[in-house]
Amino acid sequence: MKHSYPELAKPLELGFTTIKNRVLMGSMHTGLEEAPQGFKKLAKFYQARAAGGVGLIVTGGFAPDHFGKIEPFAAKLSTSKEAKEHEVITKAVHEAGGKICLQILHTGRYAYSPLAVAPSRLKAPIAPFKPMALPGIGVHLTIRNYVRCAELAKSAGYDGVEVMGSEGYLINQFIAKQTNKRKDRWGGNFANRIRFPISVVEAIRKAVGKNFIIIYRLSMLDLVENGSTWNEVITLAKEIEKAGATIINTGIGWHEARIPTIATMVPRAAFTFVTEKLKSEINVPLVATNRINTPEVAESVIASGQADMVSMARPFLADADFVNKSFAGKASSINTCIACNQACLDHVFEKKRASCLVNPLACYEAELKVEPTSTPESIAVIGAGPAGIMAAITAAERGHRVDLFESKSEIGGQFNFAKKIPGKEEFNETIRYFHYRIKETGVTLKLNTRFDLETAKSSNYSSIIIATGVEGRTPDIDGITHPSVVTYQKLLEEEPILGDRIAIIGSGGIGFDVAEYLSSDLENRSSLDQDLFLEEWGIDKSLQARGGIAGIKSDIAPSKRQIYLCQRKDTKHGKSLGKTTGWIHRTTLKNKKVKMLAGVTYEKIDDQGLHISMGSEKKTLEVDHIIICAGQQSVTDLVLPLKSLNVSVNLIGGAALASEVDAKRAIREGYELALEI
Ligand code: NAP
Ligand code: SF4
Repeated sequence: MKHSYPELAKPLELGFTTIKNRVLMGSMHTGLEEAPQGFKKLAKFYQARAAGGVGLIVTGGFAPDHFGKIEPFAAKLSTSKEAKEHEVITKAVHEAGGKICLQILHTGRYAYSPLAVAPSRLKAPIAPFKPMALPGIGVHLTIRNYVRCAELAKSAGYDGVEVMGSEGYLINQFIAKQTNKRKDRWGGNFANRIRFPISVVEAIRKAVGKNFIIIYRLSMLDLVENGSTWNEVITLAKEIEKAGATIINTGIGWHEARIPTIATMVPRAAFTFVTEKLKSEINVPLVATNRINTPEVAESVIASGQADMVSMARPFLADADFVNKSFAGKASSINTCIACNQACLDHVFEKKRASCLVNPLACYEAELKVEPTSTPESIAVIGAGPAGIMAAITAAERGHRVDLFESKSEIGGQFNFAKKIPGKEEFNETIRYFHYRIKETGVTLKLNTRFDLETAKSSNYSSIIIATGVEGRTPDIDGITHPSVVTYQKLLEEEPILGDRIAIIGSGGIGFDVAEYLSSDLENRSSLDQDLFLEEWGIDKSLQARGGIAGIKSDIAPSKRQIYLCQRKDTKHGKSLGKTTGWIHRTTLKNKKVKMLAGVTYEKIDDQGLHISMGSEKKTLEVDHIIICAGQQSVTDLVLPLKSLNVSVNLIGGAALASEVDAKRAIREGYELALEI
């Protein structure tokens, strides 16, 4: 069969077994690992990805013992009773024709637990507890626990294990000088510091025999002070190969590193050059990772010889059928991961079940099903933003007749603003996917068409879904109609020419986005240009610097504009932003010298600019333009008139609730409503 992505489709021969293609689904914690009935749900989740064509799946991390758990109630695999529970997962994946490895993850000093252990008694900047330094006997016991975990994984039917040796977890803590101050045979010089991971891999290989996959996730670029040098990375890789690893996977950046590695502003495949550099040094297959989210990019990584396999994780939350669609020549039907982290990583940090902003079914495979309706209805959906589109395509997929009304000339709603923000270009992919699905499901799209009461009266819709979204709030400030005032919608829609001195009123998600837009060189975006990105964040592409960063200055150029980002609250700016991305936005704006003003009272706007007070101090921000990003209000003018008719009327997305309006909620609401109709 001729494949659209021939290199990606090639089997990978491991000697004792063959992986059917070059696609590895990278490890992701979903929250189901600890949930009641979680393993049954996980089984469905992984089964869908195996059926979707993934060559090799790696589970979320399981601790080899109590000390290695990320928090006291986190999942571990150290008893045969626990191993038995995994059988439902391995069986489901094998039935679907896939292969699956269990990831063994010892968090070391990253544990949110007073039981945390580490090579040395040094607290991590991102963890609340100072770890206990493992005594020599404790190191031996920990290695034994890794082995036991691998043996149990084998008994549960897994095809192998992945030893998590990157991201700053226990193994990394042994390897780095920064975190290993031991004086015994496990610390001191480099050979001693890498003794722990080598011993782990050697001991696992000895215990599980030859015909069992051992993936070692190797930290190739630590991105922290005193991380490994490139020569040390090569030495470790060679030793790990000798110790018995089947495959080496790439790890980029410790969790405590202050450099984005997977967020949406990281260019696609930004770090595959690191894997490529190791390629000629070792013989076992190498896996490239980070921000690979389309089959084109994945194919080019393999075809150009950068790696033997490609790991993608979040793209499989967004679309379980990514691989099958790619190989069937239907790449344009893939629901692409936009690297927003909003429903996956942010959820995990908030101790909620992971899902996906663009695919609410992710991790809910056992609970949500798109089933054909037995009573097809005629449905009008008003508004082709994310909520309306999701409702329309899901209802149509179930067999309803759906008309989707949009007063503008294009679909996408607020996504059309988001896609213009530097670093958010991936939103274009969701709009492309929506177009495909509207066509595929047979939704009748009526662009440039305003739905009104007359339309409703003259048609025979039995159900109307109002997804009219939001409009920007106009704050009550003296002089708000002054010509210097521009709304964020007008700014992003009409792109008017603005002066160099700008004040932004409101610093929520949109205020931050607008500040990034106005402070950027829109021609040269680092989110699209790998070299620019590496330069801006101070990463040494030649890999000469220790940890990839030592002595390299980040170089985010200050904005040519003088920008004030204002809020009335007296709290830190960007508190409402995502847990895993807020710090990146704050750092970027700080480096661009955007002035963040908190505790602001807006007095008036006139020819001089924006007059404010901060406490007892009065100030005039002498600016050319003032951009309003003061939150949202629902567009609901159709609700009452439509409710007077004899039809079912439902509100979703921003039209239902403007505060905290976000695409994640909007899309999920559209999806769930359409499942009920
Ligand atoms: P928002 O997050 O609710 O922020 C509104 C801002 O306006 C706040 O800074 C608020 O701060 C200010 N404000 C509210 N009422 C005001 C008034 N009457 N006068 C002056 N200032 C006022 O709303 P948004 O920025 O429009 O974002 C909407 C949603 O889009 C967010 O909830 C988010 O989910 C999503 N979004 C997220 C991101 C992201 O995470 N990167 C990006 C874009 C959009 P004060 O009250 O302190 O002045
Ligand atoms: Fe990707 Fe965002 Fe979905 Fe996470 S929530 S998988 S980052 S699209």
